[in-house]
Amino acid sequence: MDRRKFIFSVSMIPVVSMLKPISTGLENILSINKRKSKMSKFELPPLPYAYDALEPYIDKQTMEIHHDKHHAAYVANFNKALEGTGAEGKSFEEIFKNVSKYPAAVKNNGGGVFNHSFFWTIMKKNGGGEPTGPVADAIKASFGSFADFKSKFSTAATTRFGSGWAWLIVNKGKLEVISTPNQDNPLMDTAETKGTPILLIDVWEHAYYLKYQNRRPEYVENFFNVINWDEVNKLYLAAKS
Ligand code: MN
Repeated sequence: MDRRKFIFSVSMIPVVSMLKPISTGLENILSINKRKSKMSKFELPPLPYAYDALEPYIDKQTMEIHHDKHHAAYVANFNKALEGTGAEGKSFEEIFKNVSKYPAAVKNNGGGVFNHSFFWTIMKKNGGGEPTGPVADAIKASFGSFADFKSKFSTAATTRFGSGWAWLIVNKGKLEVISTPNQDNPLMDTAETKGTPILLIDVWEHAYYLKYQNRRPEYVENFFNVINWDEVNKLYLAAKS
């Protein structure tokens, strides 16, 4: 091969791989906060069910304050934090994978917006029980049994010191349980373990204190009665494809 041909073929490799869109399986979640246009401000997505839909496990007042006050504040502060950073108009995915390059307020409030928008969708009225379908098989393959997964996830949620989240992620095709501090998530370049999240629980005190006070383990146990496994299955399949 002559030199010109060689340079041409080598330089074509990244171009070709760039043309193939990389599916992260997050399109559904990321579109929850879809803006009217690229440069529009982020908006608070409505709760996908009634405030009392998750009773008696997560109470109405907690849901009202959590969505209308906490989540709303993250949206307002994220829009403010983005001003002048050059990140206006960028997607969550683009922002998170370079989040270490932006001010801390972008990371904290962007995570706050995304994590909560996501959190609402993986719960539902009359949810819970044991999952069926592909995610159930994957849980068995990765953790041994549903009980072992539940125990691992609950431990991650109850032992996360201070405020944060516990996650079930797809990492290189395998399921993994992790936890993150503050409003961090496994899509951020700062995350210790990165992956595509398919289930998460908010363990900030504002998520449970009104009903459970200091009893975080009881809140985590009851979270298993509201999980929307249909949604988790969809996310798992998308993440695997
Ligand atoms: Mn929260």
